[in-house]
Amino acid sequence: MVEDPEELDRLLSDVGDNEEELVAKLMTQLQGLSHKQQRLYGIWDGTSDGGRRAFVDRWRARHAERRAMVEALKDPARDPRDRMALRSEYIMRWRKILFSCPTCWLLPGLCVCGRMQRFSTSRTKLVVHAHHGEWGSASNSGSILPNSLEGAEILLYGYPDHDRRLRELLADTSRTTALLWPGADSLLPEQLSALADERTGGRLTVVALDATWGNARRMQGWFPKGTLTVRLPPESTLKENKLSLLRPVRRYRGDLENGRVSTVEAVASLLYELEGDEAMYRGLLDNLKIKVDACRLQKNRSLVYDTQAPEERSERRPWRRGGQRGQDGGAAGGSAGGSAAGSGADSPGEESETEGSPAAAVTPVAAPLNTIASTAGSQ
Ligand SMILES: [Zn+2]
Repeated sequence: MVEDPEELDRLLSDVGDNEEELVAKLMTQLQGLSHKQQRLYGIWDGTSDGGRRAFVDRWRARHAERRAMVEALKDPARDPRDRMALRSEYIMRWRKILFSCPTCWLLPGLCVCGRMQRFSTSRTKLVVHAHHGEWGSASNSGSILPNSLEGAEILLYGYPDHDRRLRELLADTSRTTALLWPGADSLLPEQLSALADERTGGRLTVVALDATWGNARRMQGWFPKGTLTVRLPPESTLKENKLSLLRPVRRYRGDLENGRVSTVEAVASLLYELEGDEAMYRGLLDNLKIKVDACRLQKNRSLVYDTQAPEERSERRPWRRGGQRGQDGGAAGGSAGGSAAGSGADSPGEESETEGSPAAAVTPVAAPLNTIASTAGSQ
């Protein structure tokens, strides 16, 4: 559990900033948001400024917790596991963007949770083990898996409750458990299948890491010695896509054959190898495309997979009764984010995303919250 010194630097870089100054800036930026943008962010509460006040209150609470965390991390005597727990507890509570959906990690107005196709595996249980650098990030792929696969779980690395849960899963002798890992001595899926047939009546648990390559290597060290590993065969189903589907929202280097593949794509391919269900394989990739497009909208960029109408259906009706005349702006704005807004945001989200422009909204004027989110620094 080596410390990443850069990470601590990033944490420390702006925590001393003047909070009142930041709040004043935030208020100004919030004033400039249209109703539509407020719905996108989950700020709108139907009153003239109640939602904005709530937003600022959340922001202050987050700022205070972040300050406390950074203070605690400064203590060199603190146990590394403790440090990890501090970080993971913070990221679990606040994610990366204020008010983002706790499940898909997109802004409330862009939540895709209700749009995921859902599949049941026949014998494989999936566990996503995510690094806190990924947790809460809009462009992360693994977060859609619990909503896409019956019984799948996502666990945060270093978060004490989740570590406990993972240990419990690893100790479960009624299933054969393997970590998806591209090691030279990793089993091929057919070998893992055969082993599971022999040992546990075919029942399998697969753990997929969701992290950058460097972090994933560190995370692999967490697993007990002797944990089985499984890798994708070189000729896996991935060969039909030369580039990761996640590429439009992430900087990826290399092609899929180099193992640079999103968590969802790796999991889809492995499950296809293990279970042979092509509909599930395609469906998982379709779910990923929906997430990528929504993330593109959140970053104020164009759709790449055509998974949804680029902009709102118009609610403007020429025959609308006269009394509503003055609401034109509000009504047009309401349609984009309104419907999905309720589904996710029951707890607040957190800071800036490492890959930038987390809160850039659908409309170019909406850059404001971006700046503020960035002031919160990174994980
Ligand atoms: Zn969601």
